[in-house]
Amino acid sequence: MNQEQLNAMRHSLAHITAQAVQRLWPEARFGVGPVVENGFYYDIDIPGVKISEDDFGKIEAEMRKVIAENFLFERSEKHVDEAICWAQDAKQIYKVELLNDLKRAGTTVAKDLDASEMGTIAEGNAAVENVSFYTDGDFTDLCRGPHAESTGKVGAFKLMRVAGAYWRGKETNPQMQRLYGVAFASQEELGIHLKMLEEAKARDHRKLGKELDLFTFSELVGPGLPLWTPRGTILRNKLDAFVQTLRDEVGFEQVAIPHITKKDLYERSGHWAKFSDELFKSQSREGHEFALKPMNCPHHTQIYASQPRSYRDLPIRYRETTTCYRDEQSGELNGLSRVRAFNQDDAHIFCRASQVEQEALAIWDIIDKFYGGLGFGELKVRFSTHDPDNMAAYLGEEAKWQEVESQLLNVVKHRVGDAFMPGIGEAAFYGPKIDFMAKDALGRTWQVATIQLDFNQPENFDLTCTDEQGNPERTVMVHCAIMGSLERFLSIYIEHSAGWFPFWAAPEQIRILTINDTVKDYVDEITSILSEIVLMQPLKYNEVRFTTDDRNESLGKKIRAATEMKIPVQLIVGPKDKEARQVSLRTRSGEEKVNLDALADYLRGL
Ligand SMILES: [Zn+2]
Ligand SMILES: [Zn+2]
Repeated sequence: MNQEQLNAMRHSLAHITAQAVQRLWPEARFGVGPVVENGFYYDIDIPGVKISEDDFGKIEAEMRKVIAENFLFERSEKHVDEAICWAQDAKQIYKVELLNDLKRAGTTVAKDLDASEMGTIAEGNAAVENVSFYTDGDFTDLCRGPHAESTGKVGAFKLMRVAGAYWRGKETNPQMQRLYGVAFASQEELGIHLKMLEEAKARDHRKLGKELDLFTFSELVGPGLPLWTPRGTILRNKLDAFVQTLRDEVGFEQVAIPHITKKDLYERSGHWAKFSDELFKSQSREGHEFALKPMNCPHHTQIYASQPRSYRDLPIRYRETTTCYRDEQSGELNGLSRVRAFNQDDAHIFCRASQVEQEALAIWDIIDKFYGGLGFGELKVRFSTHDPDNMAAYLGEEAKWQEVESQLLNVVKHRVGDAFMPGIGEAAFYGPKIDFMAKDALGRTWQVATIQLDFNQPENFDLTCTDEQGNPERTVMVHCAIMGSLERFLSIYIEHSAGWFPFWAAPEQIRILTINDTVKDYVDEITSILSEIVLMQPLKYNEVRFTTDDRNESLGKKIRAATEMKIPVQLIVGPKDKEARQVSLRTRSGEEKVNLDALADYLRGL
């Protein structure tokens, strides 16, 4: 089944949903019933009745009857005035509105309509003569189609939820009940989808963040401002250290900047105008305007500009993991995915135009090593360029855009040939970029790292180096975040890993579980071994983080507690282990006996 057929099938189910609702509540009035990702919805208004999930059973049962009756979807036409009369007689007030818009403007799409006229009675000449209806058995609906051939051919479906939605998205309009369903060609595909949703719920990072004690939010601090607990902070620091280890291998140097700046910096960079609504602003006691930084690039340019640079000094590569602030609307905030304060593992390369390709390739390697190291499969690549029809959205001349885009395209072709998606209009306002998409364990795709080329900030800040002849040459900037926002990355990674972090990154790597009190001195011996271990891969000088559970509880209870916290290694120690000078080492892949003198090597190898 192709996408078109699937859409027709899903949309037919929207009709069937309305049909079932009409059979159950004949006074129901209907809005629109479009296709959405994985399914469909219908906007319904039943005076005095609020549909709840408890009603889904009977609605679905009625839908199954319609499906079993296997009505054909039969097309007919009415003159638009006749259609308006039909809708009025049927008390379908929302259809009357849609028909008036059709009559006046030839469309019902809200964005194409004059808002002041929307839904009002259309006078005068009609923009359309006839409108089409589809009838299946006892139900007729105003519709353009297409549909499945008959109600019997609509695959497998399930009603999922009902939510309030303003009629045509307008707050002053009545509230409809939007009834959502998912639908697939086969029962098997539906089953896979439902299982995926269940798994996604179990892995929800907000839920796991609480269970694994990684982060929290406080009403007093405010929405969108995550607070990291000791465990969450370790996880963040280890992932960040992984990125920095990979960066330092190719010559990045760490810098540090304040989190506020005078307005002047952003006026020069163009961010004051472009970012205006998202900037947190404040005023000093002397009346100067300041802003909290929404990004780090302009600050970093001023470190580069602090002294004269020769072509021999380039590339200069700065890195810094630091907090940025954006005034997101509270309705948009969501767990760690969308926050107001986020940490960026940011980096900027200042180089000659001739060095862009080699630098971009080196970053690409870092991205591959990082995401590969965390168990994401091969990343998809999007080459994001300017939109020639919308040059007003960008800084700089179009000819220059074309020039730098061809340079970045070389990098893309060198690495993946033609296996990339074009992203026309997806560039940043200062330059083109390469975006990387990761697929998570549930098959969902997320945009993750980027490599961005920037020829505009160097212009704005007049960044140069002297060339071989001693003349000034314009510097190029490359922006390259690997995780991007650590908060957003962790929202993806926590769900991808289901909270089972790799040994080197886990907040608590090892928990010793005692069987009884007679092993106390033996546990001391084990902990002194663990304290001495230093892991060198993939991070250098990574200590081993362990605790001991010697509570007076059953071993089963202790194992359950450690497993719930997703501790990668459990060391079970009883009198027999003490006597044999060994431990029972338990990981997700099973349990084995390890001799005490081999323990350090074993753990270093994990
Ligand atoms: Zn239809
Ligand atoms: Zn930047």
